[in-house]
Parts: sequence; C-alpha cells; structure tokens
Amino acid sequence: MSSLTDTLGRPLHDLRISVTDRCNFRCTYCMPKEVFGREYEFLAREQLLSFEEIDRVARAFVRAGARKLRLTGGEPLLRKNIEDLVSLLARIPEVEDLTLTTNGSLLARKAEALKAAGLNRVTVSLDSMDDTVFMAMNDVGFPVQKVLDGIEAAAAAGLSPIKVNMVVKRGVNEDSVVDVASHFRGTGHVVRFIEYMDVGTTNGWRLDDVVSGREIVQMIEAAFPVEPIDPDYRGEVAQRYRYLDGAGEIGVITSVTQPFCGDCTRARLSAEGQVYTCLFAGKGSDLRALLRNGGTDEDLDQAIASIWSVRADRYSEIRTSQTVSIRPKVEMSYIGG
Ligand code: SAM
Ligand code: SF4
Ligand code: SF4
Repeated sequence: MSSLTDTLGRPLHDLRISVTDRCNFRCTYCMPKEVFGREYEFLAREQLLSFEEIDRVARAFVRAGARKLRLTGGEPLLRKNIEDLVSLLARIPEVEDLTLTTNGSLLARKAEALKAAGLNRVTVSLDSMDDTVFMAMNDVGFPVQKVLDGIEAAAAAGLSPIKVNMVVKRGVNEDSVVDVASHFRGTGHVVRFIEYMDVGTTNGWRLDDVVSGREIVQMIEAAFPVEPIDPDYRGEVAQRYRYLDGAGEIGVITSVTQPFCGDCTRARLSAEGQVYTCLFAGKGSDLRALLRNGGTDEDLDQAIASIWSVRADRYSEIRTSQTVSIRPKVEMSYIGG
C-alpha cells in the first residue's frame, strides 16, 4: 500500500472518474437549462480520454493507493460501450469496489451488461417519488417509474446493495424526504439524503435553499424512529442511521452544515483528463498531455504524487458567503460529484 498522503495527512483512497460531461437530464441544481442549452459547448470526442487512457490513469492512481473507483459524469451511461471500460477496470486486482453513479434513465437497458463486465454496485439518483416534483427537478419531464425500473433491473442483476441519492432543496422537494425514505425502507437499498451544495457557479445556490441534515433526520424520525450508527470506514461521507424497527438504514451527507474535509480521501478525474483534488477546486492538473506525449507509467506516478502531496483543500470547512460567490469553481456535471 502506498504511503502517499497530502499536506493534511490524508491518504489517497478513492478515484471518481467522469466519463462524459453530457447528460440527458437538466437537473436545476446541476445543469440548469439556461446555461446548458443548445449553444453550450460540451467536450468534443477527441478531447475525451479513451478507455485505454482512463485505464492507464486508474492503474496509476491504484499504485498511489486508490482502492475504490467510481464512474460518473454527466451521465456515465451515455458514454458508448461503457461496459468495455468497466471490464478493463474490473481487471485491476487491488480495486476493492468498482461502482457507478447514474440518473437511472438507461439502467434498465444496461444493468445486466454492467454486472457481466464486473461492476460491483450502482448508486442511482432520485429526488422525489412524485412525478410533478421529479419532472420539474430533472427539467426534461422524465418520470419516476422509469428510474424505479432501472433500480429494479440493477437489483435483479446483482448490482447491490444499491444506494439512492436524493438532493434536498428547500421549497422544491423537502416534502419528498419521508416519501422516498418510506418507499425504500425494507428493500435493502440505502437512501442517502444530500444537502444541496454550492458546486459550480451556475445553479444560483443560496444558503437559504439548503435543508440541513439535522432537519432531514428530524423529518424522518417523526415518521420512522432511527438511531445513529458508526461509519463503515475512514472517509465515509454519509452519517449513517438505522431504523429502530429493523427496516434498514439511511445516510445523510452534510457537506454544507457539517463538513468532512478532514477525512476526504478522494481524487477526481475529469472526462478530458484533468485531476481535481476537491469538488470545489477552480483548477485541475492535466494528465492528458502527459499521456498523449508519450509519458511513461513512472511519469504518471510522479505526476500523481506531486499533485496529491501538495493537496491542502478543505473548501467546505472554510466556506463563507465570500468564497461561495467569488471563487471560480468547476461544474458538477464536468467533474462528477
Ligand atoms: N448523472 C449522474 C447522476 O445524477 O447520478 C452522475 C453525475 S451527478 C453530478 C452525481 C451526483 O451529484 C448526483 O447524485 C447528483 O444528485 C449530485 N449533485 C449534483 N448537483 C448537486 C448539488 N448542487 N448539490 C448536491 N448534490 C448534487
Ligand atoms: Fe445530469 Fe446527474 Fe447533473 Fe442531473 S445530477 S443534470 S442527472 S449529471
Ligand atoms: Fe473534500 Fe473538498 Fe469536499 Fe472538503 S470540500 S470534503 S476537501 S471535496
């Protein structure tokens, strides 16, 4: 195991790999239509890392200590033949967990192939059980039932335990918290309620729109009593709770009200090969040029070591109204959450 740590003593444990910046949804908190409209210029095909290039970078991150890989986007299932990338990554012996985060829209079609290629689990985003609310949030009129079909197909294919991500935004879907909890209680799927974050600069984030993890737990507690349970491992971002009646567990991700930078062990690779050491970073470090200019594996190892060893990010711990509005920040759809 590599002993690579950053300036705050944090090891490198997870790599999130964005495979595309495109998406078939326009979630208002992530890719608002007014910005990501017809004229928006997404990355061109030749700008994207090929699967072979992603595999090389992933292997270098694994040599540097990464043990968890997560594919994300944009919408990762839009990337053609994504299962071929999964089978490349599934061959890296040190990887303990190979997962993918999706909006679920194409999952019913893809679940079997992903499982066969070696994917371990999926996380599916779903912000409401109510079509009117959900369609307004994804802003392309996509119905809840199709996401549920995707979740079912993933469970049937054995891509479990499934996590369900729900971003909670004040005045938009807070009334759906108990519905979503109730729907997935007893299914073995774990809902994770996520505080609405100020990622990027396009979603018009305001602190007033954040429903705190504490409030979320109180809403659930009023319907179904819960108690806190210990984290599974260092760097787990969700605070975990279990239903007292044994119907399973939930997680709450309090990036805004109770940040967890001290334990943040994640690196992020954009679809064009930029490495970001924080979700709120303004700038990445380019690995694509190195890959395409004949860089060796040793060069990659050195680049990653020099990126991680100077890392000092703790944005959420030092967030103020000033940093929210002034700093340049990368978009969530580009970097993958
Ligand atoms: N398209 C896939 C999906 O939606 O699951 C993967 C990429 S998406 C950027 C990854 C996760 O980030 C999703 O669960 C999404 O809900 C979450 N997300 C996006 N914007 C967010 C925001 N402003 N605050 C909190 N979570 C956000
Ligand atoms: Fe697309 Fe996911 Fe962003 Fe929604 S959250 S717009 S599904 S990338
Ligand atoms: Fe990690 Fe940056 Fe989030 Fe802190 S703000 S937990 S350093 S990604």
